[in-house]
Parts: sequence; structure tokens; C-alpha cells
Amino acid sequence: MPYLTAPEELEDLLPGEPAFRANQLKQWLYQHPVLDPTEMTNLPARVREAFGSNHWPFSVEVEQSSDRGRTRKWLFRAPDGAAIETVLMGYPRRATLCISSQAGCAMRCTFCATGQFGFERHLEAGEITAQVAFAMASLSKQPMEGSPLRVSNVVFMGMGEPLANYANVRETLRRLIEVMGMSARAITVSTVGVVPGIDRLAAEPWPVTLALSLHAADDHLRQSLVPLNARYPIDDLLAAVRRFAAGKGRRVTLEWTLMDGVNDTPEQARALASIARKIRAHVNVIPMNPTPLAPQKRPPDRRIRQFVDEVRRHGANVTLRDTRGTEIDAACGQLRVRSAAASEE
Ligand code: SAH
Repeated sequence: MPYLTAPEELEDLLPGEPAFRANQLKQWLYQHPVLDPTEMTNLPARVREAFGSNHWPFSVEVEQSSDRGRTRKWLFRAPDGAAIETVLMGYPRRATLCISSQAGCAMRCTFCATGQFGFERHLEAGEITAQVAFAMASLSKQPMEGSPLRVSNVVFMGMGEPLANYANVRETLRRLIEVMGMSARAITVSTVGVVPGIDRLAAEPWPVTLALSLHAADDHLRQSLVPLNARYPIDDLLAAVRRFAAGKGRRVTLEWTLMDGVNDTPEQARALASIARKIRAHVNVIPMNPTPLAPQKRPPDRRIRQFVDEVRRHGANVTLRDTRGTEIDAACGQLRVRSAAASEE
């Protein structure tokens, strides 16, 4: 299981082989990932075949693409049945990969499809890193028209709460940055607000980007959407975010999933703008992706625009996230929802 072995320990998988083989294998796993080990051209067949069908730590259960191949989504399945979702989005100057850090999630945010399944297990560092390597391999095999040939940006916005799986996420960051050579700034760790995790991440050597899923500007409303708010209320979160931003010299992102009649009022927009100005954060508004089990809905387009305008008018730096891939369920645990529904039929 090459991805489940630390890159520095690959030699252990190749008993009797000269030391440089492990280095060659490391290149094929991390610098120039390939979908199939037979493409590892400078390795003898006996080395390539050593892992049999276990090159990837998961199988590909569903692969979908839309936007003329510029959005690709995979549902991977680990041998124990854990589902792992990954989405690749190509843009003119970047290729952004959205990865999962856990199978399921324990946070139970009321609007999120993943939370409705509950928590299955943490993903291992190798399972998280392999999502990036797989997407790199897919891109080099089938480039996206007008986009870079490598994954340039990674966001921990798939399934799971990355800061609740700290050790594995940390090891993934180390592999992506120090072994694959990705830019730390191009990696965004998105959290629902695990304060001790934010502080630990702040103490790491890498200038990664932090995104805080805020969604509400007061504790009462936030509590109804994000149960973890009882443990870490908004003031504590903002203090942690400030420490992170000060330590790293990085601007933090505030994420705001916009829900019809819930957090799309002018009052929330103003309060959000005031928070963002105070901590010099960038606001990212994500229109709610309706999911079968959540009561919340996406606001009408006009209201989405009004909300964004209101935040901007009050002096905050704000962007509206495009909802790439919604037609292939490429958002927020939805492919998995559909797959589970189909298997229950
Ligand atoms: N647990 C982490 C990362 C995973 S979710 C976090 O909470 O940040 C990534 C982003 O998608 C979060 O901002 C989350 O609130 C948002 N999200 C979850 N469900 C959504 C939905 N149905 N529609 C739109 N955004 C959603």
C-alpha cells in the first residue's frame, strides 16, 4: 500500500531492492503520479507489481464530469467500505481540488449532507494525500482545456472536519508541501471552528490558508446551524482566527453558506461585514446547495446578489463562490447521498 506508507519509509516495501528504487517510486507516487503502476517506466516490473492491485488505497466507485471535463468528481471506496469524495475544478489559472479528511463527520451541521450520515472514521494521511495524487494523475492523463496541468490548489472542503483529524491532516500537509512541492499558500484548511486545532495549525511552519465556516454573525443563530458553537462560541473563534492571522501574516477567509430566510438578511450582512472588517478577513458566500435531508434552501438569485452587495457596501471584501458541478452532485456529500439512496432501492 504505497500511499499508506510514509514517503520516507518506502524502502521497507521494497526488500532486496537497491536504495534508489525507493526514491524512484517516491517520484512516481508524489511528483509525477500515474493512474496505473505500469506507467512507472523506469521501474522493473517486479517492483511495479509488488503492490498488485493495491496501488491506490481505494477503488473508484463513481467518476463523473461536467463543464466539458473541467469539473471532475470521484467517489472512492476504501476496502473497509468508507466513502471518500473528491472534486476537481479547472479554471484558467488554477486547478482546485476539494478533498475529504474524514469518512462522514461528527459535527452535524444542520444544513450539511455529510453530517447527516454521522461519523464513520478518520481518513489516514495516505488516504487524504492519495486523493491529490489521483487527481494529479487524472489531469496529466486527460488535461483540462485551458487549465494548468497540475493541481495548483487544494481545499479541505470535502467530507469531514479536518481539525478534528489533526495528526493525519498535518501529515498530509507535510506530504503535499514538502514532498509534492505544493505551495502552502495554495492549500486552504476549512474548519467549522475547532479552536485548539486552529491554534495548533498556527504553530506549524507552513503558511497555509485558513477558512472559518461562520454562517451566522450571532451565537443564537449560529448555534441553530452549527452545534459545535456551544463549545466554541463566535468570540472565541474570532480570537483564534486573529491569532492565526497575526502569526502567519495571512488573510483568513470567512465562509458563509447562504440559506433562504435564515442568514440572508441585511442585518446579518451588516454584522458579517463588521466582523470581517475587524479581523481583516475575506468573505466567501456559498449559496446553499439543497440536500434531501436538510430543511434549508438556496435563496433566489436576486437575494443572493443583494446579500453580497450589502456585505460589500459595508466595507468588507467579499466574493460569491460559483456553484460548479451542482448538476453532477459535486457538492457537499451529495454524490454519496445519491449513491446510498440508489443502493437502498
Ligand atoms: N468541516 C469543514 C470543511 C467541510 S465543509 C468546515 O465546516 O468548514 C466545506 C464548506 O461547505 C463549509 O463552509 C460548509 O459549511 C459548506 N457546506 C456544507 N454543506 C453545505 C451545503 N449544503 N451547501 C453549501 N455549502 C455547504
